[in-house]
Amino acid sequence: MATSATRLRPNILIAGTPGTGKSTLAAQVADSLGFTHIDVGKEIRENDLHSGYDEEYKCHVLDEDKLLDHLEDRLNATDGGYVLDYHGCDFFPERWFDLVAVLRCDNTILYDRLKTRGYPEKKLRENVECEIFGTLLDEATDSYPADVVKEFQSDTLEQMEENAEVIVDFAKNWKPSSVS
Ligand code: ADP
Ligand code: MN
Repeated sequence: MATSATRLRPNILIAGTPGTGKSTLAAQVADSLGFTHIDVGKEIRENDLHSGYDEEYKCHVLDEDKLLDHLEDRLNATDGGYVLDYHGCDFFPERWFDLVAVLRCDNTILYDRLKTRGYPEKKLRENVECEIFGTLLDEATDSYPADVVKEFQSDTLEQMEENAEVIVDFAKNWKPSSVS
């Protein structure tokens, strides 16, 4: 089972409140590096990795065990080279990721993005509150070592470009920790 000590290429997780730009950034980073992008939300929907549908929130309820089983062959492999994006991060094995990038977004900008996406009012409000409280950053810092978690502001396209550049540089310069 590979870890940051033995992987050939790093694995990256991009986390953050819905609408902060995770999937867009992850696709861009994976494309630049020749890594494989896994949009975890999409993976859950396409492979029925859920235990039902929440009518109020208009979303699937994740089955964490099914998801981890579904991903483990790829994430445990020594190749590395995966860019995952998902809003949460606390239930993944810590050893899977060499970087957990948490995207942050200004409240009003996020509100507008989620409104455009057609989120119902309650879900919209809860997601904006989640961002105001920094819930996903707390979850990441509670679940991964301090030097693995990095926060990125994602209000503008210019910031998205900068963030992609920083993450691509990180991956290019990354070496397994057993190599001195
Ligand atoms: P997530 O995967 O986090 O839900 P998406 O990548 O789907 O977010 O982005 C949501 C919407 O916001 C998309 O229309 C995307 O183009 C836009 N967007 C995301 N990040 C930025 C940014 N930094 N600047 C401008 N627009 C952005
Ligand atoms: Mn997404």
